[in-house]
Amino acid sequence: MQDTKLAIVIPCFNEAQMLPVSLQKLWNILHKLIDEKYIGPESFVFLVDDGSLDNTWDIIKKAYENSEFKVKAIRFSRNFGNQSAIIAGLENAYNLEADAAITIDADLQQDENKIVEFVKAYDEGYDIVCGIRKNRTDGLFKKTCANLFYKVINFLGVNIKPNHSEFRLVSRRTLEILSQYKETNLFIRGLFYDLGLKTKDVYFEVKEREFGKSKFSFFSLLALAARGIVSFSVRPLRIVFFLGFGISFVSVLLAIACIVRLIFHLNYLPGLELFETWETFATGMEILCIGIIGEYIGQILTEVKARPRYITDEELK
Ligand code: UDP
Ligand code: MG
Repeated sequence: MQDTKLAIVIPCFNEAQMLPVSLQKLWNILHKLIDEKYIGPESFVFLVDDGSLDNTWDIIKKAYENSEFKVKAIRFSRNFGNQSAIIAGLENAYNLEADAAITIDADLQQDENKIVEFVKAYDEGYDIVCGIRKNRTDGLFKKTCANLFYKVINFLGVNIKPNHSEFRLVSRRTLEILSQYKETNLFIRGLFYDLGLKTKDVYFEVKEREFGKSKFSFFSLLALAARGIVSFSVRPLRIVFFLGFGISFVSVLLAIACIVRLIFHLNYLPGLELFETWETFATGMEILCIGIIGEYIGQILTEVKARPRYITDEELK
């Protein structure tokens, strides 16, 4: 609608090469939407510099000073991670009275042309429009890990669409609800299907990154996956319980076999090798289970401390 104040939120970490190109493309789309009266002229782009070490902030400042772009921005005091950058952008969009906000990556690997479709869905009354990847441009290993992650998280009872991305539109009502979520260990992707709001999925083709490289290492993705699972499911703790039960049961059977063997001198019943293998397996499982419980304790600890999710150093509004 012509009075909709739309905020396009972009998390940026070392995106100096990509940002000028992306801003121009986004601005063309915003202009088109404003001209065609899908959104109001007060719409803006909100950039969050997540403690970049290159000259991303200088580029943001230049865009802010250029009256052609309607840019607002904040800069974190250090790198707090992509999830904190996204939530900061959404919180600021809410405080700046945006009616709707769209999050998109600075490299525009998500198809920015789908923004028009997002806005049309918002006009039809959807509170959330989720961008779902039709394909992945990642290598075979990352692709396999991502597919496995979605299978595991769905099996653990979390309602999240496979190949969901951080490309989505949320209404002001969603932003308001989101402002009540104070958790530090954010897994933003998991939140949206959980709210029960009117949600639409829009599928898009993923593009190759034009400049720079992915900011996620294998270990940072693994940490994000663990955070997602721990944030939304306690089933792993139940699995630990059943695993313990199963291992204890097999151990009792082995102990009975051992006693029978000793009493009747039956050499064909389990020998020492089997007991040693079983002990190694059970010890491995024990450490794994402690690790799983440790993930939950770690998350409880950080939640109890309730430290700020990010610290803002500079603002351009
Ligand atoms: N990003 C961020 N903080 C980080 C890592 C990434 O704000 O610590 C931003 C990054 O600048 C980009 C988005 O998050 O806008 C997605 O990152 P990237 O394109 O590297 O992820 P990939 O597409 O490889 O999953
Ligand atoms: Mg990317």
